[in-house]
Amino acid sequence: MLSRVNGLSRHFTEDSLRRYLLERSVRQADGCLIVRGYGTRRGVYQKVAGRAWAHIAAYAAFVGGYDPALDVDHLCDARDCVEPTHLRQVSRAEICRTREQPSTCRNGHDREADESTGRYRRTCRACNRDGQRRWRERQAVEVALARAAYVPNPGESART
Ligand SMILES: [Zn+2]
Ligand SMILES: [Zn+2]
Repeated sequence: MLSRVNGLSRHFTEDSLRRYLLERSVRQADGCLIVRGYGTRRGVYQKVAGRAWAHIAAYAAFVGGYDPALDVDHLCDARDCVEPTHLRQVSRAEICRTREQPSTCRNGHDREADESTGRYRRTCRACNRDGQRRWRERQAVEVALARAAYVPNPGESART
């Protein structure tokens, strides 16, 4: 299992890797377990235990079932966090689901397929049409208001 972790020093067992990671980590108030890697920069991915990424080593050691074909994501956005409950791998099924496009736009119009790609068009023509109509209406109101403002005062125009 650990052999799938790229760059990980081969002498580690799951047990010794867990101990190693915990010895180099500090628990923060927000629950993150921040690991200290070789570099001096914090808040970025850390290399540990040979040349392994700490969050990937932590996933393999604490969570298990690491799949090297998939990324290990941080739910907490702290890239140097190795808290197992903050780490996850997105399964292939989930990736496929998120790639599926919704069949209606955000305003509920049925989306049109683009014949050349077989995928839905990015922009919704019905929404575009509505947007243009609203814009023309606003313009019409503004023109009407501007005209009203330019009507000269009858008294003044009589004097000039
Ligand atoms: Zn975290
Ligand atoms: Zn629409």
